Amino acid sequence: MIGNNHSQICKVGGISPGLRVFISGAATGIGRVIADGLIECGARLHICDVSENDVKEFLVAHPGQKAAVADVADDAAIGSIFEEIERDWHGLDALVNNAGIAGPTGGVDEIRPDEWRRCVDVCLTGQFLCAHYAVPLIRSAGGGSIVNLSSAAGRFGYSYRTPYSSAKWGVVGFTQSLAKELGPDNIRVNAILPGLIEGPRIENVISSRAEQLGITHGEMKSEYVENISLRRMTPPEDIASLVAFLLSDMGTNLSGQSFGIDGNLEKI
Ligand code: NAD
Repeated sequence: MIGNNHSQICKVGGISPGLRVFISGAATGIGRVIADGLIECGARLHICDVSENDVKEFLVAHPGQKAAVADVADDAAIGSIFEEIERDWHGLDALVNNAGIAGPTGGVDEIRPDEWRRCVDVCLTGQFLCAHYAVPLIRSAGGGSIVNLSSAAGRFGYSYRTPYSSAKWGVVGFTQSLAKELGPDNIRVNAILPGLIEGPRIENVISSRAEQLGITHGEMKSEYVENISLRRMTPPEDIASLVAFLLSDMGTNLSGQSFGIDGNLEKI
């Protein structure tokens, strides 16, 4: 499936061979599917992830690529990764701000301030930190592309998930602001807003929300899918294909946009 999707992206002419890409949180999940797809298209990758075991496994699967154990909310750790990228590659063509956490599920009077801060730190400040260090390298390469992962929770209000939703709305504002700021440097900045993406993460989110609302996982899941016009969740490969498109020459004139990819989620 993924091979076919990405082979098509490569055929239609997108990713330049050797494209230098940094992806955060890419050892598992959607980030990993993006990483695998871009590598298949001939890109060179440097990734980071907080999970040491998953970083090790990534390097076993992709021995020619670079990977570091780092938390996107840790300024010093992210700074030193980009120093290494500068030493190795002398520039960068693309940044994919993918790392994110679901954050707590609970009422505003139940969520602890430290839980709020951690969610915003990872989902929003982490994107700022990566852009802060990546932009000079992309500028020195003559331009490039930045893709920020937001969420459908970044275009709807999302009760009991206020930290996550607020951070993901913040990602859209960050994206539109950066697109204006960096356009004259030939740097394109876009956001992707995935909806319900097939995989373990959404199953955990559904379980937490079902518990919060006192219903079963199955009932909660049906309610979620009923809200999608196409009545199906989205495979992570679709996100990877859109990232590849936005990083490719085909996306040359796309900037400042927020792309929902969710089968038309009507509400959450
Ligand atoms: P995931 O939890 O499956 O994977 C996230 C990866 O990021 C993991 O490898 C994890 O170890 C890593 N990570 C977590 N915190 C980190 C940190 N502080 N620093 C570095 N790495 C960290 O998540 P996912 O479903 O693959 O989501 C990827 C992105 O897509 C996130 O930004 C998420 O908010 C967004 N998103 C996902 C969905 C979905 O349904 N899965 C929907 C909308 C948006």
